[in-house]
Amino acid sequence: MRDRASAIQSLRGRFAGRLLLPGEAGYDETRTIWNRAIDRRPALIARCAGTADVVAALRFAREHDLLVSVKGGGHNVTGNAVCDGGLMIDLSPMKGARVDPGRAVATAEPGLTWKDLDTATQAHGLVTTGGIISSTGVAGLTLGGGHGWLMRKHGLACDNLAAVEMVTADGEVVRAGPDENPELFWGVRGGGGNFGIVTAFDFRLHPLGTILAGLLLYPLSRGRDVLELFREIAPTAPDELTLGALITTWFDGQAVIALAVCWSGAMEHAERVVAPFRRLGAPILDTVRPTTYAELQTMFDATNPPGNWYYKTGYLEGAKVQEDALIDVLLAHTDFPSPSPLSRLYVEHLGGAMGRVPPDATAFVHRQAPFDLIVIAGGFRPEETEKNVRWARETSAAMRPFMSGAAYVNYLGADAGLDLVRAAYGPAWERLVALKDRWDPENVFRLNQNIRPSRSRSGPDGKTAS
Ligand SMILES: Cc1cc2nc3c(=O)[nH]c(=O)nc-3n(C[C@H](O)[C@H](O)[C@H](O)COP(=O)(O)OP(=O)(O)OC[C@H]3O[C@@H](n4cnc5c(N)ncnc54)[C@H](O)[C@@H]3O)c2cc1C
Repeated sequence: MRDRASAIQSLRGRFAGRLLLPGEAGYDETRTIWNRAIDRRPALIARCAGTADVVAALRFAREHDLLVSVKGGGHNVTGNAVCDGGLMIDLSPMKGARVDPGRAVATAEPGLTWKDLDTATQAHGLVTTGGIISSTGVAGLTLGGGHGWLMRKHGLACDNLAAVEMVTADGEVVRAGPDENPELFWGVRGGGGNFGIVTAFDFRLHPLGTILAGLLLYPLSRGRDVLELFREIAPTAPDELTLGALITTWFDGQAVIALAVCWSGAMEHAERVVAPFRRLGAPILDTVRPTTYAELQTMFDATNPPGNWYYKTGYLEGAKVQEDALIDVLLAHTDFPSPSPLSRLYVEHLGGAMGRVPPDATAFVHRQAPFDLIVIAGGFRPEETEKNVRWARETSAAMRPFMSGAAYVNYLGADAGLDLVRAAYGPAWERLVALKDRWDPENVFRLNQNIRPSRSRSGPDGKTAS
């Protein structure tokens, strides 16, 4: 123990950021993440100021045989960003964003949120695909794939990566891109944080000015009409149109269904594109209007605050989406246990450009799924956990006949079993294991949706297999 204490003292001397021990100022704030249901106490937190700190922290963890967790934006619902008793490598102070408008490339450090990066790129009238809540981390979202309003037009966040810099399990700094470590580059685009700690992301950017976006809100009694129209329009929509169907409780306590709309094409065609929705008659609320991408990116922030959260998720099976029974079952599970605007069912509209990327081009493979479903229990008090979790599980189980069996890795909850994790990586699994064997054979990076290397005995829970 004295050895560890003097080693920490020596690390402090060469560490540009801050090292936090239990009880020190800032320790509790830093270990607190978006999902407040997670309450873990690392033995040490390394708040990294740059790549050299990441290398030093990782080498320290390895020398002292400490479990490692990596925090980008701290949004992952599993809480994998924080560990009990190990070393939490906190990247959130690393917030550099360098935009090169001439080359249309942005270099992003791993502590940026989407708000940080969107603000930097939009200052030049440029964007890349990013998540729909502005406080979500760029890092974790991109490494798992990266859904967002622009995925149908420009591909996933990971499809827009030009290269990354990363710190490997051995503490080496490498680059991965089409010409350098291309197999590693394949793996980080969908394989999550399994292969190393990414310290810089180079994103390709695209011009984007005014868009048309917002919500059309109807009473839930119109649920069937709205869902029928959604499933009619979404599959053949132009790439510039991304929709979403949201069933929730509105702020006034009313059960509602909303169509979320984002049109990122030419504004002269905007009204024509949304005209079919007017067939539904007057909504109770219509916020669809010309706006900026940066503003759209904060539209759902208010309904995603830090709190207690639980997710279930999966892709809908393409051949089943036109079955009326799917709508029946979905609407039968709108009895949210927390009557707050935070619990919801959300059907995401996929396809378009993200669907045309060959499935073996990146480790993100589920390119053909037309929709995915996220069952979200949120904002509940700790004593309400059981009934909220039960509702989400029952809803998810009832929807199983309409699901493909695979899921988007970034939406998986902490209770996703090995089979579901494996299904999330799908046909990329064997190739990912080979890559893990090459770059992290001892499973140093295991607090994630884990790809266990062939010979490692350490499981995702940090425990050693018997
Ligand atoms: C409110 C909310 C909204 C969301 N919206 C979207 C959305 O619109 N689109 C979408 O695709 N997903 C969305 N997600 C899911 C999101 O993609 C994941 O939760 C993602 O993991 C968040 O990344 P983070 O950096 O914030 O999380 P963290 O919890 O910090 O990181 C998650 C994991 O990623 C790995 N990791 C993080 N940083 C690095 C790094 N630099 N190098 C290596 N590994 C790293 C670690 O394994 C870590 O445990 C949303 C989640 C929430 C909670």
